[in-house]
Amino acid sequence: MTHAAPVAPDYVRGIAPYVPGKPIDDVARELHLDPAKIVKLASNENPRGPSPGVLAAIAAAALDVTRYPDGFGYHLKDALAKRLSVAPAQLVLGNGSNDILELATMGYLRPGEAAVYAQHAFAVYPLATHARGARGIEVPARDLAHDLPAMRAAITPDTRVVFVANPNNPTGTWLAPAALEAFVDAVPRDVLVVLDEAYNEFLDPADRADSIGWLAQYPHLLVSRTFSKAYGLAALRIGYAVASVEIADTLNRVRQPFNVNALAQAAAIAALADDAYVEESRVLNRQGLAQLYAGLAALGVAYVPSHGNFLLVKVGDAARVNQALLHLGVIVRPVASYGLPEYLRVSVGLSAENERFLAALKSVLGR
Ligand SMILES: *Cc1c(COP(=O)(O)O)cnc(C)c1O
Repeated sequence: MTHAAPVAPDYVRGIAPYVPGKPIDDVARELHLDPAKIVKLASNENPRGPSPGVLAAIAAAALDVTRYPDGFGYHLKDALAKRLSVAPAQLVLGNGSNDILELATMGYLRPGEAAVYAQHAFAVYPLATHARGARGIEVPARDLAHDLPAMRAAITPDTRVVFVANPNNPTGTWLAPAALEAFVDAVPRDVLVVLDEAYNEFLDPADRADSIGWLAQYPHLLVSRTFSKAYGLAALRIGYAVASVEIADTLNRVRQPFNVNALAQAAAIAALADDAYVEESRVLNRQGLAQLYAGLAALGVAYVPSHGNFLLVKVGDAARVNQALLHLGVIVRPVASYGLPEYLRVSVGLSAENERFLAALKSVLGR
């Protein structure tokens, strides 16, 4: 039998495409607004951007874009290995940590098998699962957070991957290290635990799990991190995984040979060397969250306290409030696709940006 056009498998056609935060340019064009006056608090970027030293490293790397990048990422892996006290062979670099999540499913999930993740968890987990023709097992959240015992109980004999986000996006919920480690320990060793720590740098140091240290004990654990959030490099697309040598080897087999570009590698090396900048960003984020909590409380608007650089704000008819905010030049993120139709996710911005959001929300809600 012949077809008039190529036909994608059902499991691919069934994928709900990822909906990103609206770019400033789109909102400016569609609503005839001055892009310079638009505030974007929709994608959890670092509102300060990268440090000047990182920008200089990118400019220097831009002078040599003729050659292919280092496909192994020698210098960045060397820096990461020293920083994290692991072997370079335990590292995998990704075109964003999104790439890492996909590589994990490519390496370990066969069609028909299953991956477990939580309700209201990061949208890429179902995407990466379904793209492999595998089945997603979504475990109901408890008070919006991952219910770890229920996730453990949901693991079937054909489950090969479990995704855990800590903190989770979009809920901002956090799992205490002891409970998280107990979960990792309880997961069968033939199931890969993908621990997504995209917002790790925003946690108070005392709240951070020693997840990299756990690797010595847990051969089925993979820790995923990114330079997109606290390091301010979202546009360059770079993240990494730390796992056993065997798991890293598997992911390195299925990745593109040059999946991380040279500018991203240079930027990440410079960013990693500037601890002070990341610490300042963490403190600024705490202040921004406090500012938003106070402003929302003053408006009588409920919110979910967050461990990330964003928070869920309960506005009721979020689709309507979102549209009205867009007309006022404030871009936030509706999260109905995460099963949270009454909420908007608002990224923490600079103080003036947070003020703009609060003032716009006040006007939209008529308070
Ligand atoms: C933003 C985010 C990521 C990663 O984004 P990349 O830009 O691809 O590194 C991963 N996990 C969660 C939970 C996120 O919110």
